[in-house]
Amino acid sequence: MIPKYCPYCGDEKLEELEPTEVAIDNMIWTIYHYECQFCGELFDRIIPEGELEWDNVSPDDLDSLIDDDDKPKGYPH
Ligand SMILES: [Zn+2]
Repeated sequence: MIPKYCPYCGDEKLEELEPTEVAIDNMIWTIYHYECQFCGELFDRIIPEGELEWDNVSPDDLDSLIDDDDKPKGYPH
């Protein structure tokens, strides 16, 4: 999720500033601020909470989630 390059000059010297959390429609959006150490431009990366969680789900987790959905609720193993 951390940008590797400055979108303005392409330099890799980025400083991550204090992120801001904003609640929109019961969702927490995290706004990451970066400052390019080369050209001094500031830019933001906005990460919605849902997207963040999705990125943290591994393929194995996804399989088990789908399996659980296929089974009737409360079905004994
Ligand atoms: Zn730059």
